[in-house]
Amino acid sequence: MVDQETLRRLAHLDTGGLPIVSLYVPVPTDPTARAALPTRVNSLLSRIRPLVSSEELDRDARLSLRSDIEDIENDLKDRWTPGGRAVFSCHGAGIFESIDLPRGPRDRIVVDTTPWLRPLFSIVEDLKTYGVVVLDGSEAEFFELRGGELTSSSVLRSEHLRQASHGGWYGLEEHRMQNKAEEMLNRHYRAVAGVVEQMVRIDGIDLLVFGGLDQHPTSMAQMLPRDIQDLVVGTFTVDMANATPARIAEQASEIVSAYELEDEQRTVQEFCDEAGGSDRAVVGVDHVLWAADVAAVDRLFIDHDATLEGVMCPECGWLGTEGDTCPMCGAEPQPVPDVLDELVASVLDSGGRILQVRAETPLRKELVAARLRFPLPPRP
Ligand SMILES: [Zn+2]
Repeated sequence: MVDQETLRRLAHLDTGGLPIVSLYVPVPTDPTARAALPTRVNSLLSRIRPLVSSEELDRDARLSLRSDIEDIENDLKDRWTPGGRAVFSCHGAGIFESIDLPRGPRDRIVVDTTPWLRPLFSIVEDLKTYGVVVLDGSEAEFFELRGGELTSSSVLRSEHLRQASHGGWYGLEEHRMQNKAEEMLNRHYRAVAGVVEQMVRIDGIDLLVFGGLDQHPTSMAQMLPRDIQDLVVGTFTVDMANATPARIAEQASEIVSAYELEDEQRTVQEFCDEAGGSDRAVVGVDHVLWAADVAAVDRLFIDHDATLEGVMCPECGWLGTEGDTCPMCGAEPQPVPDVLDELVASVLDSGGRILQVRAETPLRKELVAARLRFPLPPRP
């Protein structure tokens, strides 16, 4: 599983100047689709095969790359689990990392002297744990949903009073039975709500999704403390009696995806609204690169699709869109295929957080924005 620590470790991999292959591929759940995986990986690898005989690379780099291709082909023989896979390989420097991803990235292969990590950042940042609760009038099942993966945690069965099971009870007696049934139903909701509260306060669940028929989910939610009600991002309709975990995962994930897109939009919009006039916020590539150069970025917002050619100083790590001389140290900056990827690595390196934004926001145009730890000093 990929986490912030894995990312920091990957960001610090040192290839000693040799090329490193970064490969991303989705691994389908469906066995038929998964059978096509070797073909898919081979077609990615074929894009870099010409480099093995390229005159542009020195012999060590070419030999290392040739072994990387073999190593990745061999790794593929292990069963890659559904979701996604990221592989970083630099044979010459003894680096081979094959990492399980909770959801599928886009097919991508990149050869550079540093690992290409952008797709991983979004996965790590997005990974919230959702509590999923499915209930009816007498039972409830509790799940955790993280990175699209649903795990079952527990089941609760409340004492159940069968309504109308005794023919011939009328009038007062029937009324009494109804009250009794209602009371037991409320007791069941309270018991479920108790477990939900525990999931949040003790197990560290971030947000909640409820499923069930009729009024059950909403009636139970009303028994929750106000602050926990606020964590419910949606409710779906499902009949507990014939709901499979796969179906529950699918319905809950739909609600979660929609919520996360909205949440991104809201977060970016709120940020952009406060950014004007603040000395702790910048929008746009030039300002954000400068902020990263002085390690001022607390949180980086970046459009998930954006890439931008730029330059990086090999001596001090200065990042820019262009320039022949590093303004920080005077060395000669080198071109990099995606300066935003270097930006992300630099922000992470200085302890900042990244939000990759998939939703349609002002970042489509501006590409990046950042909340700052301190106001920016004047440029040199
Ligand atoms: Zn420099």
